[in-house]
Amino acid sequence: MDAVTVDRVVVVGGGIGGLSLALALQRRDIAVTVYERAGELRGIGAGIVMQPNGRNGLIDLGVNDAVAAVSSCPTAVHACDYATGEVIAGLPNAWLEENFGLPLLAVHRGDLHSVLLAAVRDNDPAAVHAAHEFVALDQDADSVTVRFANGATDTVPLVVGADGNGSAVRSFVFGGPPARFNGQVAFRAVLPGEAAPQSRVSGSSPCTVGPAATCSTTRCGAVS
Ligand SMILES: Cc1cc2nc3c(=O)[nH]c(=O)nc-3n(C[C@H](O)[C@H](O)[C@H](O)COP(=O)(O)OP(=O)(O)OC[C@H]3O[C@@H](n4cnc5c(N)ncnc54)[C@H](O)[C@@H]3O)c2cc1C
Repeated sequence: MDAVTVDRVVVVGGGIGGLSLALALQRRDIAVTVYERAGELRGIGAGIVMQPNGRNGLIDLGVNDAVAAVSSCPTAVHACDYATGEVIAGLPNAWLEENFGLPLLAVHRGDLHSVLLAAVRDNDPAAVHAAHEFVALDQDADSVTVRFANGATDTVPLVVGADGNGSAVRSFVFGGPPARFNGQVAFRAVLPGEAAPQSRVSGSSPCTVGPAATCSTTRCGAVS
């Protein structure tokens, strides 16, 4: 197969994965256009724990400091018994820093998403298009034409599907059965800091472990 020059990449999906890829491409001087199904790109979600290896990714993307500024840095992570509250296991964040060079951070997904989106738009204000739902693509040896529900099309050498778990791009290209619900459910809630239960370990993010469920608490935002 002849080599194809990739002068621009289309990324379908403006979530954490799509925006991270867009930023990585821009930082390597490859133009990118992101198409997102949602009518507006907004910072939705709840807590995400960013481990040291994830933070190395943020360093490569040039946004580690910006993400750290909107994150909290827990003193430790620990697991406790659901019935008694007894601490079963714990890991000081300082240990992670000593062994992996960086402590873990806790960040609201919306804040992480906003930092990535701002960085992509700083590089190219026209890079991200909302209200573009991928529906189909046609490809030949040199290019791919992506089609959206609003009638728009775009032709580029390379398209990446970053449209999440139930990826329409993956289904279109590879077919196969749709994603199947496995019965596991995660509920998320965001509480103001003062309403959250106090952790038994000061400044720690506890995970409460029970027979059929676990409850993870993430202190998001720039908590001192
Ligand atoms: C709204 C939302 C809130 C979340 N909140 C949390 C959280 O609080 N904590 C946590 O740990 N994880 C959360 N996640 C999951 C986490 O962000 C992702 O699982 C993980 O970051 C993987 O990212 P991704 O970019 O592969 O997928 P996603 O984050 O799922 O992003 C996929 C993007 O593709 C878009 N998309 C889907 N179909 C199409 C289509 N046909 N055409 C164009 N665009 C399309 C979606 O709207 C979405 O923006 C959330 C995800 C979403 C979408």
